[in-house]
Amino acid sequence: MGDPRGFLNVKRKEAGYRPVEERVQDYREVEVQLPEEERKLQASRCMDCGVPFCHWSCPVSNIMPDWQDKIYRGEWKAAYEILQGTNNFPEFTGRVCPALCEASCVLAINDEAVTIRNNELFVIEKAFELRLVRPVQPEKRTGKKVAVIGGGPAGLACADNLNKAGHSVVIFEAEDSVGGYMRFGIPDFKLEKSIIDRRINLLKEEGIEIKTGIKVGESISASELMREYDAICLAIGAREPRDINVSGRELKGIYFAMQYLSQQNRIVRGDKIPEEELIRAYNKKVVVIGGGDTGSDCVGSANRQGAAYVTQIELLPRPPENRTENDPWPLWAKIIKTSSSHEEGCERMWSIKTRNFSGRNGKVEKIRAVKLEWYNEDGRYEMKEIPGSEFELEADIVLLAMGFVHVEHSLLKEFGIEADARGNINVNDDYMTNIDKVFAAGDSVRGASLVVWAISQGREAAMGINRYLSA
Ligand SMILES: Cc1cc2nc3c(=O)[nH]c(=O)nc-3n(C[C@H](O)[C@H](O)[C@H](O)COP(=O)(O)OP(=O)(O)OC[C@H]3O[C@@H](n4cnc5c(N)ncnc54)[C@H](O)[C@@H]3O)c2cc1C
Ligand code: SF4
Repeated sequence: MGDPRGFLNVKRKEAGYRPVEERVQDYREVEVQLPEEERKLQASRCMDCGVPFCHWSCPVSNIMPDWQDKIYRGEWKAAYEILQGTNNFPEFTGRVCPALCEASCVLAINDEAVTIRNNELFVIEKAFELRLVRPVQPEKRTGKKVAVIGGGPAGLACADNLNKAGHSVVIFEAEDSVGGYMRFGIPDFKLEKSIIDRRINLLKEEGIEIKTGIKVGESISASELMREYDAICLAIGAREPRDINVSGRELKGIYFAMQYLSQQNRIVRGDKIPEEELIRAYNKKVVVIGGGDTGSDCVGSANRQGAAYVTQIELLPRPPENRTENDPWPLWAKIIKTSSSHEEGCERMWSIKTRNFSGRNGKVEKIRAVKLEWYNEDGRYEMKEIPGSEFELEADIVLLAMGFVHVEHSLLKEFGIEADARGNINVNDDYMTNIDKVFAAGDSVRGASLVVWAISQGREAAMGINRYLSA
């Protein structure tokens, strides 16, 4: 521990964001960084408590107290070496992780948590700046070939660890670039795509082969891969969007969030989108249905496109400002989250159920909705429509951001892979599916989740594959 009194003397200070009026004019990252000396002080707030719950709640089990100490002392190489031992891509989690660790920081019992996510990002960016992050090729190749299907964070982490173990890895990616939802879902204002490219270049230099524009099941069959590779890992995400089955759903102007976000991500990188396919929020009234991360990204994108008004509606009730007694430390706090996109302008409404869409000439114009009352029935939350609370919202564009139901099933059928009760891929403790030598990781196993969980599962699956190949 750098300074034993750090947590008493230094208050939590977040890096913060660029001013709203400036950042809505562009798509560059909104979060800024503290200067080095302030970052060291923030790291000194880590108490090096006897049982670091932050370590327990981080899906990749980052060893925060150890690198906080190195940050405080300015020992960047040591901090980087500890961090990269548990997390393949701290530059991604340092930007987009909701910081599960901070909810269980021991300091947060009666004070504000250490700025763990910001500190993590500082370490990895400092390591890049000091050229400590270099491509390292394995000393010996095992002669075993592994195909990783899907180049999102789960596939990339799995490929990285298998390559480090000496296996020859090929990533097959359906899109024209890897990154998964980090590239085509999460907007640049949270994660600039040059950050992904920087890491992909390293992975390639280390020997991983990446084949883009190849959808397994269409461009190449499952049986071909089964013949050619010693092991296969499916990391294809949970990409079946949740739809809304109400009248008027067929109207023009209603889109899945990913149609909108992936188009905007392509525009930012310079793609030309055919005029008839463009979804433009300029001067439009936009309603986002769904109150999660994806919905918040739609809000931020619509504001940057110059929307006249943005409303976000959510079925669930408004979360409380502070923890309740049913939501104690060190668990993840189910409290209200206000993202940088919300700060940029958006009306948020909770406990709202969409009844139907209506419009003219085949185009959506209105959402008819009703307010809900939530009550606790034997520990289960139930909802009831409030009589007479129906209302209408004007909408030129409706974005459906209600999450993803499960992995797409077509490729599972081709391999003969079994799904679990929730429709995701069923795996054993080694992340192997019911088919010998076929493994799976990430959202396709866990259901739609987080980048850090995808990295964690990619690492675990790599361990399972390594054990299988070494047996
Ligand atoms: C809009 C949005 C915002 C988000 N914001 C955050 C956030 O702020 N923080 C956070 O932690 N998480 C966030 N998430 C969630 C996070 O991005 C995902 O949990 C994570 O990317 C899952 O990683 P994955 O590798 O399992 O799958 P994915 O990222 O979905 O990658 C799967 C890859 O497989 C490819 N693929 C699919 N089928 C095939 C096939 N047959 N052949 C070849 N390739 C195939 C896909 O093209 C894709 O590249 C967000 C998600 C979305 C959609
Ligand atoms: S990956 Fe997420 S949970 Fe883990 S230390 Fe970083 S911010 Fe915390």
